[in-house]
Amino acid sequence: MSELEARLKSIPKVELHQHVDGSIPAEVTWDLMRRKNLQPVATLEELRRRLELQEHEEGTLLAYLDKMHYPLWITQFYENIVRVTEAIVDEAAAAGVTTLELRYSPVIHTFAGLTPRQSIRAVLSGMNHARKRHPIKLGLIVIAMRQHGPHIAKILARQAIAEAQHLHVRTGVVGFDIAGPERGNPPRLFGSSYEIARLGRLGLTVHAGEDAPAEYVWEAVDALGANRIGHGCAAASDPELVRRLARDRILVECCLSSNEHTGAVPRGARHPIHTFLEAGVPVAICCDNTTVSRTNQLAESARAARAIGIDAVEQVHRHADEHTFIRPETALKEGDD
Ligand SMILES: [Zn+2]
Repeated sequence: MSELEARLKSIPKVELHQHVDGSIPAEVTWDLMRRKNLQPVATLEELRRRLELQEHEEGTLLAYLDKMHYPLWITQFYENIVRVTEAIVDEAAAAGVTTLELRYSPVIHTFAGLTPRQSIRAVLSGMNHARKRHPIKLGLIVIAMRQHGPHIAKILARQAIAEAQHLHVRTGVVGFDIAGPERGNPPRLFGSSYEIARLGRLGLTVHAGEDAPAEYVWEAVDALGANRIGHGCAAASDPELVRRLARDRILVECCLSSNEHTGAVPRGARHPIHTFLEAGVPVAICCDNTTVSRTNQLAESARAARAIGIDAVEQVHRHADEHTFIRPETALKEGDD
């Protein structure tokens, strides 16, 4: 292990933007598929190629999103959701993550009859199991899919509050988010659901400016009151917006590998994280989807260190912990599941 790797490994790392669906280890999906008598391909290696983005597939959002469909075959069942969540937390802990917010869209895990509430509880149960093995702060962000519309988002915001961390002595929901196709589904449509989440004391983050212009980030800030922005790549091209993010201490969850994989940032181009750091905008270094992007928090931090230096990476993680939605008073208490 090089000196740099050893130091990166020892830095307490903060992961604020990681999806459950795109982070399930291939071996776990393989095993759960076989248990359900599902075998769409002959070998684990073949399945891995379908779950992890291949180099020739990099650069388009469609190829990236297509990697998520196999996991959905097995994550419709309570016990399976518990199992995949535990596996994800185990991997994060092994990469030196000490604060982990996972995010998840409950509605797309209800095809076999789970209610959205049960599907949220399943992830929380997996987190509670994993927490017994690792000294790690955990919390869940509930995602409403933009394409399901503002009314479903409102219903989900209420479901999220029912499982909020501050209402229960165990791992709980700490934040609310919208994700899915940006264009044609501008943030301002989701004002009511964010108002519900805010009144329920959830942290507010918004996928914005990944595949849409800076105007969508403005809406996330002005109309939704976002505390954090997911990706936010487009914001870097708008100096006034960058100043606003810095002034209001709105953190941008930067996903370096993912942004290159989806084409949000062209390969070889300067990542917006540089602009944000230069302007004093708080940032976090995030994986987005560890399996699809073939990464983990250690690898992402190493990538960031090559771009901004290891001292800056250490500082980013230290400051990012001040922006977690996980509340300290309940974060490390022993809880049931
Ligand atoms: Zn994301």
